[in-house]
Amino acid sequence: MNSMPAAETALRREVIETALEMERLGINQGTSGNISARWQDGLLITPSGVPYAELKAQDIVWLPLDVSDDAVVFEQSRPSTEWRFHRDILRSRPEINAVVHTHSNAATALAIHSRGIPAHHYMVAVAGGNSIRCAPYATFGSQALSAHAITALKDRTACLLAHHGVIAIGHDLARALWLANEVEVLAQQYLLACQLGAPPVLSDEAINEVIEKFKGYGLRSKA
Ligand SMILES: [Zn+2]
Repeated sequence: MNSMPAAETALRREVIETALEMERLGINQGTSGNISARWQDGLLITPSGVPYAELKAQDIVWLPLDVSDDAVVFEQSRPSTEWRFHRDILRSRPEINAVVHTHSNAATALAIHSRGIPAHHYMVAVAGGNSIRCAPYATFGSQALSAHAITALKDRTACLLAHHGVIAIGHDLARALWLANEVEVLAQQYLLACQLGAPPVLSDEAINEVIEKFKGYGLRSKA
């Protein structure tokens, strides 16, 4: 491990810092969340079953993007059980370099009802469109779950997973984490608004205007 390039060590540390910040934000339930970042022709991903506070740079698992179930890498390390959707998102979305997965409470409450988040607030557009979709249920860690997530993330940078949680993706770890937290805030606001009846939603035209404004407004530079 001493021969590890400095840039790789720095990215491994950034994955750990992002995991710790996810805990500080209160959007991670126990060790349920997981995080990955693109590194060369693969990904660096949090390991399975290690508390974030105990993580060291060398504990972060590297997987090649073309890794398959029977790969030798699994004999040496234990990546997060959700490595399939991390791999498949990074493989299918070249503009994305980071994936954050949480079981944050309000978003998961909606996902339990298989409900996504409509355009009740203009900030829904930060995920790329007029809604944040909810992917159908499939068993955690399965290839079916990964396929559902990829579909729900089409033209989006966040989705919910039915009876499970949230995926947020971004150009870098800071952006993906920021979005994971924003999805939780939007879900909380939506649940509150639902208490007064079915919330009115913004028109597609209004949302498209927001999307255009974000493009020129540097939300990207926020994270
Ligand atoms: Zn999960």
